Amino acid sequence: MKLTDDAEVEKFRAEFAAFLDANLPAETEATERPRSTSHIPEWARRWQRKLFEAGWLVPGNPPEYGGRHATLPQMVAHQEELSRRRIYHSFNPQGVGIIAASLLSFGTEEQKRRWAVPILRAEITASLGMSEPGAGSDLAGLATRAVADGDHFVVNGQKVWTSGAHDADVLLTFVRTDPDAPKHKGISVLLIPTATEGVTRRPFASINGAHDTDFNEVFFNDAEVPKENLVGPLNEGWRVANGSLGHERTMLWLGYVEWMDDVIRDSPCPHGEWYADLLMDRQALRLLGYQQLSGTRNPAEVSVLKLFGSEAVQRATLHALEAGGAESLLHPAQTGPYSHMSMESSWASWFERYTRSFGGTIAGGTSEIQRNIIAERILGLPR
Ligand SMILES: Cc1cc2nc3c(=O)[nH]c(=O)nc-3n(C[C@H](O)[C@H](O)[C@H](O)COP(=O)(O)OP(=O)(O)OC[C@H]3O[C@@H](n4cnc5c(N)ncnc54)[C@H](O)[C@@H]3O)c2cc1C
Repeated sequence: MKLTDDAEVEKFRAEFAAFLDANLPAETEATERPRSTSHIPEWARRWQRKLFEAGWLVPGNPPEYGGRHATLPQMVAHQEELSRRRIYHSFNPQGVGIIAASLLSFGTEEQKRRWAVPILRAEITASLGMSEPGAGSDLAGLATRAVADGDHFVVNGQKVWTSGAHDADVLLTFVRTDPDAPKHKGISVLLIPTATEGVTRRPFASINGAHDTDFNEVFFNDAEVPKENLVGPLNEGWRVANGSLGHERTMLWLGYVEWMDDVIRDSPCPHGEWYADLLMDRQALRLLGYQQLSGTRNPAEVSVLKLFGSEAVQRATLHALEAGGAESLLHPAQTGPYSHMSMESSWASWFERYTRSFGGTIAGGTSEIQRNIIAERILGLPR
């Protein structure tokens, strides 16, 4: 498959590059930095809205949802142009990439109008409430309860690791609506505005340091949620979960290629065996990703990309950390060129870039879970 020589893709890429050149916010405008994955400063809201209106936010969407019916290779070109310039199209990535996308797949027309469009236009931000203290890898074991009562549900329980929840306007929340059904069958999905009485959010710091408070615990204590906020049919939340995670995983490999490109560009020691490994890993991942785009034989192959990409990034950042010596521990430290359009993490210390790589091997299904999937669904090994 030749992606680069396709005239349509190249025309699309050139058009997007010209749009970026003409419309990128100036550095003087972009002084306020986002503090979490659901906090979008005013200038970045204007930027996201501009992309939405021009059909460049999620190019695969129809125009009314911020796109232009782009093909998969065109979407890859869009992402490559952003990453080459170290630019974010949205500072609420899970809002645009998972929550709005899930609403467009499973929501009613009213939910698309009321929630998906405002998320895409950066008028509101959204976080994802799936994981719980007792339900991460085994998501189907979730215990947060929603009980129907008249025209609303009453929600009780706890979520954890909810990225950006303290800054979000709404949470896409997975709840148990039928405790007697087999565990995959009694789950539903609710849009819960964070201003609802009985919702408490407690942000906490990550391994990256006290400055990084994106994670939250979220508690629901008799929170009343209107029934019209049910996304998809009652008790069919597992289908939505697979759809939402599918959205998360489709192009995840591209993120790891970008991450490796950054290490290659910024490396304190661009030679030696580890550097050769890094170049080969990056190329192998890109080729495997293109192969997947050209038509996957087995959907479980996405797990190979996720596992290989996240672990290759971890190896690369560990080697860069070691190669940089004691200076790699300095924080704050500028290990890459500053870009006012990117997250701080792209130029954090090598130590922080390494600790951040653990998010990649855990979120969206841990490495162990990916190995289980590969063993059972690709290699056909017994469970
Ligand atoms: C950066 C980051 C952002 C996140 N953002 C969000 C978010 O916004 N919303 C949200 O809901 N969640 C979020 N999460 C949570 C994430 O989805 C969970 O951490 C992940 O699903 C793993 O669940 P757990 O942490 O409960 O670990 P556990 O499932 O308890 O796993 C603990 C260990 O046991 C291993 N293990 C578990 N089961 C098996 C098995 N069957 N076979 C072999 N090994 C196994 C795991 O691999 C792991 O090493 C985020 C996580 C990270 C790191």
